[in-house]
Amino acid sequence: MASTAKLTNVELGSEPIVRYRELLEPAAWQDFERSMTELAGALQGRVLWNISSTARGGGVAELLTSLLPYDRGAGVDERWVVIEGSPAFFEFTKRVHRLLHGFPADGSEIREEERHEYSATLGRNARALAEMISPGDAVIIHDPQAAGLVPPLADLGAHVIWRSHVGLDKPNDVARQAWDLLRPYLDSAAAYVFSRQAYVWEGLDSARVRIIAPAIDPFTNKNRDLRHDEVMGILGASGIQRMDQGEGHYGAVSRRAELGGDLLPPDAKAVVQVSRWDALKDPVGVLDAFAAHVAPQTDAWLVLAGPGATSVRDDPEQPEVLRDVLSRREALAPDVRARVQIAQLPMEDVEENALIVNALQRRADVVVQKSLAEGFGLTVSEAMWKARPVVAGRVGGIEDQIEDGRSGILIDDPRDLEAFGDAVVELLRDQSKATRLADQARRRVINQFLAPRQLTQQARLILDVIGR
Ligand code: UDP
Repeated sequence: MASTAKLTNVELGSEPIVRYRELLEPAAWQDFERSMTELAGALQGRVLWNISSTARGGGVAELLTSLLPYDRGAGVDERWVVIEGSPAFFEFTKRVHRLLHGFPADGSEIREEERHEYSATLGRNARALAEMISPGDAVIIHDPQAAGLVPPLADLGAHVIWRSHVGLDKPNDVARQAWDLLRPYLDSAAAYVFSRQAYVWEGLDSARVRIIAPAIDPFTNKNRDLRHDEVMGILGASGIQRMDQGEGHYGAVSRRAELGGDLLPPDAKAVVQVSRWDALKDPVGVLDAFAAHVAPQTDAWLVLAGPGATSVRDDPEQPEVLRDVLSRREALAPDVRARVQIAQLPMEDVEENALIVNALQRRADVVVQKSLAEGFGLTVSEAMWKARPVVAGRVGGIEDQIEDGRSGILIDDPRDLEAFGDAVVELLRDQSKATRLADQARRRVINQFLAPRQLTQQARLILDVIGR
C-alpha cells in the first residue's frame, strides 16, 4: 500500500472581529463585518483549510497564526495543516524559493531526482489530506512547497486556491525556470493569489489571478502595545539587554536568547533588524554597513535578531548564514565588535518569541530591513505600526509599504552600504525627522496593512470561488 505522510494540525483559537471596530473607519468596518458574515454563512457545513510547510518562523506562519482566529471568531470552521517532508524535500523547496526570487541557487538546474522527491512527498501528503478534506471544502495552499497538492485536492472536489507569498520585481530566466517547474501543478486551481501585481507569473490564466497584500494584527503579542517598563523587562528577562538589580522580569518571558556579543546597554541607541537567517535578508550586509558607515559616526549599537538557527523546519540554510554572520562579527575591530549583538531568539514558545520581537522592535531607534529581495516583508509593517523609523531596501513588497521620505526611507540599491549607512546615521541624529517618518509610518499601516483589509479581500475571493 502507498505510504501516507504524518500531517500536523496547528491548534487555533478564535478572536472577536469586533475589536477592530474602534480602529477602522466606519465604512471599512461595515465592509469587513458584512464580508465575514457572508463568508461564514456560505461556508456552513464546510471547512476552510490552509496548508503550509511550517507552523513557525517566517511570514506565512505569522500571517496564519494572527489572521485565522478572526475567521473562526466570525463563525468559519477554518483549520491549518502543516505538511511533512524530508530534509531533501526542504532543501529542494528552499532552492525553488531562491529561484522564485530570481536568485540562482547552488546548481541552478533542477534535477530529475529532486522533481521526483517533490512529487512523491506531496503524493504522500495528499493521501493523508484526502482522509480529512471533503468535496465542497475550500482549501488555500500556501507557497511553492505545497503547490503540488493542487491537482489531488481539486480532484477530491475541493475549491483550491493557491497563494504565493514570494516573487520578484522583474522576472528573469532563473525565476522562469521555477515557474515552469510549478505551473503544471497549478492548472486546476480556482484562483491564484499574489501579494503584488509585479509578482504574477507569466502563463497563468489572468481571470483567476487576485492581488492581496499581507497585513498585520495589532492585537497579537507581536504587535500589541507595550509600556516602556514592559519593553525593558522583556529585553532583560530574555537576556538581550543589561539590567539593573530588580529589573528584568516579565511573567511570560523566561527563556533566554543565545547571544553573539554583549548585552545591550539600556541607554544605548539601537539599530535593529529582525529576520530569519536568510542570505536574501542580507544580515552580513547590515553588519558590514554598520561597521563601515554607522559605527564610526555614532555610538549606536547594532542588534541582528532571528530565530534559533535550527528551529525553522522549511529553512535548512539558516545555520550556515548564521555562521557567516558570527564569523564576520569576530573579524570586526574590537571597538566596533563590542557594539554588535547577534541574538538567536528562543522559539520554543511562539508567544514568548513574539513578545521578544515586539520589545526589540519598540526598543529600536531605527529599524532596518536591508533585504536584497522580499516577498512582502511583514517586519516592515510591524515596525511601522510601532511608530519606528525604518530604513529598508527598495525591493519587493517593502516598496508598497514605505513611501520613501514620507513614511520611512528606501535605499534604491540595497547593496549600496554607504547609502544605507548614511540613511541610518541621519535618522539617529535627526530626531525630528525620525519622529515625522515614524508617525506617518503608523498612519500608513492603519490605513493599508491591518488584518481586516486582507480578511475582507480574502472572504470576497472565497465567496466568488465557491459560488462559481
Ligand atoms: N520573526 C519572528 N521571530 C524571529 C524572526 C522573525 O517572529 O526570530 C517574524 C517576524 O516578526 C515576521 C516574520 O517572522 O512576522 C517574518 O516575515 P517577513 O514577511 O518579514 O519575512 P519572511 O520570513 O516571510 O521572508
